[in-house]
Amino acid sequence: MGCESCTDGSCQSEEKGGLPPGMLQRYRLGVDRSDGFLVWIETERDAEGNIRVCDHVKELLGKIRQMDGGRSRVWGVIFGHLELKPLYPELYAHGVDTLYEVHDRVLSTFHPEAYADNLAQIIVRTEPAVVLFGATPRGRELAPRVAARLDAGLTADCTELALSDRDLLMTRPAFGGNVMATIRCTSFPQMATVRPGVFPVPEPFREGKGTVIYWQSTCRILKDIISSEIKRDSGEDITKARILISLGAGVKRESISVAESLARKLGGTVSCSRKLVEKGWFNQSRQVGQSGKTVAPDLYLAFGISGAVQHLAGIGLAGRVIAINRDANAGISEVADEIVVGDANAILRELERSL
Ligand code: FAD
Repeated sequence: MGCESCTDGSCQSEEKGGLPPGMLQRYRLGVDRSDGFLVWIETERDAEGNIRVCDHVKELLGKIRQMDGGRSRVWGVIFGHLELKPLYPELYAHGVDTLYEVHDRVLSTFHPEAYADNLAQIIVRTEPAVVLFGATPRGRELAPRVAARLDAGLTADCTELALSDRDLLMTRPAFGGNVMATIRCTSFPQMATVRPGVFPVPEPFREGKGTVIYWQSTCRILKDIISSEIKRDSGEDITKARILISLGAGVKRESISVAESLARKLGGTVSCSRKLVEKGWFNQSRQVGQSGKTVAPDLYLAFGISGAVQHLAGIGLAGRVIAINRDANAGISEVADEIVVGDANAILRELERSL
């Protein structure tokens, strides 16, 4: 029995209307054609309710350009409606060549199943070699769904990317953060989620012109979102701070108010190690490190922090690191530009008073 489209009897498809044998595998050999990068363009609303492109999207676009030198095509996929239009020039100026807009008012709200269906269809059509997502809560929810639909590999929570020909080398913490593993995926597309804040946010590098393709979603949406609310931390965003006063288990609880006063005087922000989150002294949004946030201040003052690998994973982009520790050989001394040996609480008090 052959399929309907083959009339010369050569087709040996088992299934009426199915693909001739070997055809699917041949499509998969699109591996050879896979080229370029596709990025999910995540958006967010600012305090006034205006939609904006998340910073990590620009970080990813900047990294692609740095790795590839602008040789390959870059696709962006964005979901929503008319309100997205003002974002186009900024995306083109950061490196998107072709923007797929999944044009549907309902999809202005995050629907992971429908987003994944549409992304998978667009990926099959565009055949990128690399697909990138931010390792944000939504990116972490979406990327595995897309990977499952495409039967593709996915490296989650990367902190570094590199290219070797068309191979993407994806680095992420492994074994509880005790080693950094570099992973290569043996199939295409190569997919990764990347932590926000691990690459710098680049300036736009070209004029904001490109192509937009409006994509009609055909996916059924099986649920209604009645209301959605963005949970914002009342504190400052440690990923944006230029100066961080970071506190670890070596400080006493009463030193927190001193650190906050010092931060105000220096125009900085207070962050912490995981131990202080575990003690309940700080909200998790203040935690620096592998399971916290990646920070990139010009100055990182680490008071009573030992410098466990999981903590250091979050400060690789910091400019100057000064550690204040009573142990001159604490692990943090290996990455610190300077180590001040002494009691962190007393030094905090003295510094705050002297300014
Ligand atoms: P400690 O390791 O207890 O160090 C305290 C330091 O203070 C010591 O160096 C000590 O010499 C010094 N000290 C003590 N008293 C004084 C004093 N009076 N004056 C000056 N110095 C003093 N940790 C993170 O921070 N961020 C993460 O994202 C993170 N993720 C993790 C993920 C996993 C999967 C795992 C397993 C662990 C993770 N951790 C993380 C925990 C990490 O391994 C360490 O336990 C933690 O970073 C230690 O915090 P600390 O440096 O504040 O405390």
